[in-house]
Amino acid sequence: MRQPTHILNDDLAMRYAAGALPEAYALAVATHVSLCDEARAKLAGYEALGGCVLSDCETEAVADDALSRCLERLDEKPAVKPKTAPVCKVLPAPLTDYVGGDVNAIKWSRLGGGVRQSILRTSGSATARLLYIPAGQAVPDHGHNGMELTVVLQGAFSDETDRFARGDIEIATEDLDHQPIAEAGADCICLAATDAPLRFNALMPRLLQPLFRI
Ligand code: ZN
Repeated sequence: MRQPTHILNDDLAMRYAAGALPEAYALAVATHVSLCDEARAKLAGYEALGGCVLSDCETEAVADDALSRCLERLDEKPAVKPKTAPVCKVLPAPLTDYVGGDVNAIKWSRLGGGVRQSILRTSGSATARLLYIPAGQAVPDHGHNGMELTVVLQGAFSDETDRFARGDIEIATEDLDHQPIAEAGADCICLAATDAPLRFNALMPRLLQPLFRI
């Protein structure tokens, strides 16, 4: 299996391990992690650190070497669970629970230009949606009022920063304006999580924005 080249950063891994992310972001991280060995190892490190800090809290006094022991545990190679037999699926396990199946169970609504979305039911301040972008099609160019996490599930897209394929996560923040374009070949399916409306540069998407809740 191809391993992603764009992986989650330490800040996201730490907040995920601490259970501090809104559900939509946590879903994006879990989806990415399920497709990326390196991200899984990084996360296991932060989870070990979290457990370590908690177990030290329970003792009367923290041993002088507690921190160095924690750090040593971080250096230990976390056990990566053996992969099960490959199944030709687009949606990894964290997503099938939300969708109730694989791609054919997704209930799409049209956004125009062949682009489709399916908003997933999540609680909290952020929103998660699946996006379907036909091969070669561009998403209207936009900026971000908050953080946008995009995980590629099928196909690939490119924007001003790089190329993103299955398992890759793009972390877009307020300083990025971009126009993702799906690669020729397979149609692109992604999971996108946002905590604020996008800033579209063209009028048409701006007008349609409230309708599409994007
Ligand atoms: Zn974006």
